Amino acid sequence: MRIDASKIPAGGLDIEGEDPAEILAVEDHAGDFKVEGPVHYRLHAYVSGGELVVAGTLETRVSFQCSRCAEAFAFPIREKGFEFVHELAAADESVDLTSDMREVMLLAFPAYPVCRNDCRGLCPQCGTNLNKDKCKCKPTDFSAWNALDRIKL
Ligand SMILES: [Zn+2]
Ligand SMILES: [Zn+2]
Repeated sequence: MRIDASKIPAGGLDIEGEDPAEILAVEDHAGDFKVEGPVHYRLHAYVSGGELVVAGTLETRVSFQCSRCAEAFAFPIREKGFEFVHELAAADESVDLTSDMREVMLLAFPAYPVCRNDCRGLCPQCGTNLNKDKCKCKPTDFSAWNALDRIKL
């Protein structure tokens, strides 16, 4: 998103719109997440003391792979505290905010995404998704159960 400083009136300017999902593309992380929609912004911009100041909210929807059950799930990302300050080289400078928006949004992504807080994950023994199905595996580890069986015999 670009802002032309000369178009901002003395009282500031409210800006609302969308940037394409592609601004959040990260090559290294292809497959870890998918940005499902455009990056929506609701910002207030003003010029003060030769600086362009922009602040507001950035939002998008991202689908992640759950760290526990490996299912994809959509997750809203909302960053209310976006702030951008830029010293203007000229009163009519056109300022590109895209890389700052991108950085703030990527930092708002969860480091350990889970589809829901009580996600049961996959059975470590048979790989069944325990949110959808039950499996017959015992919750204790195999060697302990084998030992108990032997005692009974
Ligand atoms: Zn999950
Ligand atoms: Zn199992």
